[in-house]
Amino acid sequence: MPTTIEVDLKRSFPRKFVPQDADMGDWAQVEPLFSRLLGRHPSCPEELEQWLADYSELCAALREEGNKRHIAMTTQTDDPVREASFQQFVEEIIPRYKPRMQAAEKAYLENANRKRLPTQRYAVLDRKLANSVALFRNENVPLETQDELLGKDYHKLMGAMTVTVNGAEVTLQQAAKFLEQPDRSLRQQVWERMAARRLQDKEALEQIYDRLVALRTEMAAHAGFANYRDYAFRQRERFDYTAEDCFRFHDGIERAVMPLARKIRARRQHLLKLDRLRPWDLNVDPLNRAPLAPFSTTAEFVQGIRKIFARVHPSFGEQFQFMADQELLDLENRKGKAPGGYQTSLEERRLPFIFMNAVGRDHDLRTLIHEGGHAFHALAARDEPLVDYRHAPIEFCEVASMGMELLALPHLGEFYKNPEDYRRASHTRFEDLVLLLPAIALGDAFQHWVYTHPVHTHEVRATAWVDLVNRFNAGVDWSGYEEQRAFQWHAILHFFEVPFYYIDYGIAQLGALQVWLRSRRNYREAVEQYWNALTLGGSRPLPELFAAAGARFQFDHEILKPLMDAVEEELERTAD
Ligand SMILES: [Zn+2]
Repeated sequence: MPTTIEVDLKRSFPRKFVPQDADMGDWAQVEPLFSRLLGRHPSCPEELEQWLADYSELCAALREEGNKRHIAMTTQTDDPVREASFQQFVEEIIPRYKPRMQAAEKAYLENANRKRLPTQRYAVLDRKLANSVALFRNENVPLETQDELLGKDYHKLMGAMTVTVNGAEVTLQQAAKFLEQPDRSLRQQVWERMAARRLQDKEALEQIYDRLVALRTEMAAHAGFANYRDYAFRQRERFDYTAEDCFRFHDGIERAVMPLARKIRARRQHLLKLDRLRPWDLNVDPLNRAPLAPFSTTAEFVQGIRKIFARVHPSFGEQFQFMADQELLDLENRKGKAPGGYQTSLEERRLPFIFMNAVGRDHDLRTLIHEGGHAFHALAARDEPLVDYRHAPIEFCEVASMGMELLALPHLGEFYKNPEDYRRASHTRFEDLVLLLPAIALGDAFQHWVYTHPVHTHEVRATAWVDLVNRFNAGVDWSGYEEQRAFQWHAILHFFEVPFYYIDYGIAQLGALQVWLRSRRNYREAVEQYWNALTLGGSRPLPELFAAAGARFQFDHEILKPLMDAVEEELERTAD
């Protein structure tokens, strides 16, 4: 099937239902639009489709307003006006429109004409909305707020932690940089201090987690579920895989990934000339080389990345250039900018926006190529009228981004003229990719255990964690640091703030690897299939999105083994 990879970047999407000048930050102007929609009662399939389009337009306008304010705030955090504007939207607008959206979705589901709409077109939307209505419980609303507040307590506790390094007080994130230093005794000292600092707040962290587990278990019971795990799967819209599939994934990782993970760690130990690998030996370059420095100015960065995208396909180069021209990129680190990186959408304009903090490191290339994959996904689906269908499930969104990281690999020479640098960048990517899988299995298996055994003591919980650490340990010697190992999970914010949000990346990685494997056989065809799948947005179920990209929606030993064999081959090819 021949595909043209192109996007009408000039196309605009003027408002039809929402008044041109309506201010989405003013509830007095938003409320009447919901009232009009809810008072309409569409009386034939055509009217119902028009109603959906209008509702979608309103949702897009609201989301764009929120996203615009979020972008404004994160690009300049020291401006109190921007912060207040975002806060106002979060506190005054979102809590008001959420129940109205819930009511609108219920009205759609209950409309007699819904069953007369084309099934193929609306099946995914109907399933999603029916699920959200079925899960909703009024008595869970205050519990969700408590859950969020506990997440904030966790954040506060972790954010306040500092240690002293070389006489200066630094945050744990700043301290973590020293784990990349060649001086081994400094690394050990910093690692020990970080672990000791977290253990100081051990009891408080354990209690926050106890309360979260109890709260979540209660919410699940309200909605009629036997445990929070089963509830969370429905809440995360995991319609196409089960807990059993996740267990098979863990087993597959144990059998197909662990041997390679151990080989990677053994090589590190050998290169570092150590008799055993300790927890503070994992982040330093094994040959003690200075970090790669692929660019020094933002202009160089943007031009280089544009060339890489253009080599994946000329259209990606054009799309990226368009983003640069339209000021849809905020890339360089500067004072007053929020940390981290993200890709978000301007929903009404149907355009992506990329935010990051580049400082000239290899990691920046990975971030921008990754977020670029998300941006192309947004552009690919921009002609889709339903806002819900312009976004895929997370398990496939990350195929778009991680897939692009792998498709871009052969072209990294745009930054690394020297073959040794190129091999090093490429090798590190595959090593990280392999080592991430056991970490995902560990985190996922732990949460399955916690929420299916909601009544447990701290000691039993620590034992459950340690058993899993041992199962997925790739040659790190923890002896003498048993307590640190038992509570190491306190540092993983997902467990506290976004439960069960972990395995999604593993599932996506397998999709991305399958795209990459195809690209080694026929690059152009693989890129075209990848694009085909992106254009579907979220309009089809996960297995179909994967199939469109030329990948199987499967995550067990059978699929992992050949992927790991190909990665191993690549690791050997790029070893120094
Ligand atoms: Zn991503």
